Order: sequence, then C-alpha cells, then structure tokens
Amino acid sequence: MPLIPLRPLLEATDRYGYAQGAFNVNMVAQAQAVVQIHDLFRSPAILQGADLANGFMGGCTDFLHATLEDKQKGAVNIAKAVQAAAATTSIPIALHLDHGKDIESVKAAIDGGYTSVMIDGSSLPLEQNIALTREVVKLAHAVGVTVEGELGVLSGVEDHVFSEHSTYTHPLDAIRFFRETKVDALAISYGTMHGANKGKDARVRKEIAIAIKECLRHDGIFGVLVSHGSSTVPAYLVDAINTLGGNITNAYGISLEQLKEVGKLGIGKINVDTDIRLAVTRNLRELFLLKPELTEDSRLNRMYQLLKAKPEAFDPRVFLPPIMDTVMYGTIPNQATEMVVNAVKQGVMEMVGTLIVEFGCVGKAPLVEQVTLEQMADRYRKEGI
Ligand SMILES: [Zn+2]
Repeated sequence: MPLIPLRPLLEATDRYGYAQGAFNVNMVAQAQAVVQIHDLFRSPAILQGADLANGFMGGCTDFLHATLEDKQKGAVNIAKAVQAAAATTSIPIALHLDHGKDIESVKAAIDGGYTSVMIDGSSLPLEQNIALTREVVKLAHAVGVTVEGELGVLSGVEDHVFSEHSTYTHPLDAIRFFRETKVDALAISYGTMHGANKGKDARVRKEIAIAIKECLRHDGIFGVLVSHGSSTVPAYLVDAINTLGGNITNAYGISLEQLKEVGKLGIGKINVDTDIRLAVTRNLRELFLLKPELTEDSRLNRMYQLLKAKPEAFDPRVFLPPIMDTVMYGTIPNQATEMVVNAVKQGVMEMVGTLIVEFGCVGKAPLVEQVTLEQMADRYRKEGI
C-alpha cells in the first residue's frame, strides 16, 4: 500500500484508546526492519526520521551540521526505502519528520515523500511558536500531510519544578495552541526527556495529559498528545553493551507501566529512539566478537575501530559512516556487510517488536482508515484547513 498520512492512525488511537509507538530510523535497513516487524504483528506503523537523521541519510556523516541539501537528499532516500517496504504489505504506514527545525526542513521532508511532519517551535515564545506552527499547518494540510507541534520544554535535567518557572506544558496553553494552529498532534512536556539518562525512577505527570485531553473533548477539538523522550532503556541491553566493551553509565528510561497507562489517557503516539540505538549497538558489538574475521573487510575494520574507540557511544550513526552506501541506499556489496545489516535489523526488530506487543498494538491495522493524501487534503479544505 502507498504511505498514508499520520492523521488516520492518530484517529484510531483516539477512538480506541491506545498509543502507537513511533520509531526513529537512520538507515534503509532499519526502515525495512520496522515495517517487517509491524507487518508480522499486523500493527499500523509510524516510522520517523529526525531532521538531522535526514541529513545523515543524505550522506552527511557530520550530521549535526547537515545542510538543507543533505536533508532533501536524505528525505528522498528514506522515503523511497519506506515506500518500497510498504508496497509489500497491507498495513497502514506513515512516515513522519521528527523535530523539524524550520519551514525549509519541513518542505524538504514533504517534497521527499514524508506524509507527516513535526515543527518544533518549543524554544520560541508562545505567540511565535503558534505563528510558525500555523504556517506549517497551512502548507502541510494543503497536501494532506499531518502536523505535530510542540509546547513546553523537554530537557536533559533531572527534575522539572512545577512552579511559575515550570517547563511542563501548561494545559490551557495547549488548548489555545490546538485551537489557533489546527495541528493534529502536540508533543507535550510532562516529565519525559530525551536520551538515555532520564534519572532513576523518572515520573510522568499524567495529570497534564488528562487535563489537556478533557478540555479538548469539552471543546470538541480533535487532538492527539505525543510523548517524546519515552525510551524504556532496558537494563539488559545496557548491561550487555557494557559486558561487550561499552561504557554506558547512569542509563535509565521511562517505565513501561507508565507508558502503558498514559496510552489510555490521551497520549496516542509514543516516540522511541534510544531503545533501538541500544539494541543495534549491542548487536554490532556482539557480532564483531563472534566474527572477528569481519575486520578483514577494510570498511568493517573501520567500523570495528570506531566501536573500540567510542565505548560510551550508542548512536549507530557514530559507527555507520564506513558503510554510507548501505545506510543511504540499502546496497549490500558483500556477505560481511550483509551480516552487519542483519545484526542491525535484528536489533530493531527485537526492540520494536517488544514495544508493539507491550503497547497493545498487535492486530490493530484494520482499525485504521486507509485515507490517501489527496482525500485528507480534501477533508482539511472542507474543515477550513
Ligand atoms: Zn523528541
């Protein structure tokens, strides 16, 4: 099936009271693996490419400094891979831009084939965030593409203080944000945070999600809340990486119990990136231990050297630069590279499969209305975009 907008997937979560995992990918093989495992479990699928990940998939290994051109190229590469994988299955699949930085990055994603975009104006004052997000909604909805905004600030610090200086999302601001921007989804700050160091016993303030959702219902506004920074950071993966030569410290995630609970309270999309990175890193380390002869391949030897030189790293983009053709286009030049690709895919499927089951998404594919981008654009037009 062709890719569809995110909106129908969000509507299903809203109607049936569950949350859908949204999984970040950084290379073609990861996208293939995410689609395969969702297909196996008959679950709708949300794949995400972060703004900077698009730069990486466009060939910019120094992705923190990716140019617009890199992002445009990367968006095409990943969209092509997801479209090809989607063509082999009947499950509904959306491709979503994570943390779009500006209008140009959003346009690059849409032009490349993304069916949903996030515009992250959370660092701006409320008025400016609303204005920027509204602009993105107008251009995206005109072509049927779904939009997620962000309000409130997620940080890496350990405790948010709920006071006048709080960085949590203010529920009343959230209602205003939905009403004035007409976004389909909103990332809120309610206690989760990005990365693998969320602090021991991180608590989610579910009351914030409940309050926003209640008000939306009262006012008859459609809106799904998104939980960013929601990796569970399984201890068994961290332990395995450290046993295999890694050095990851102070790594804690959000408990599965909390994520499963908020899925029934208005959170409809749960973003997961770190967990996948950890599983892939564990698999790469293990593969080189089990098959030292892989280092006879000069490119894989460079990958091995990177693994050895950076024990604290668990972002596969640190280790993948020696095989950029494989990252960008899915090309597999030899058997040794195929083993690496399989290790990556297995890591993705282990983690994503676990979360599909834990989040209760098994068998949910038929609940999603298969709406095309054109049909969706029509609907928005009739509702006044
Ligand atoms: Zn995020």
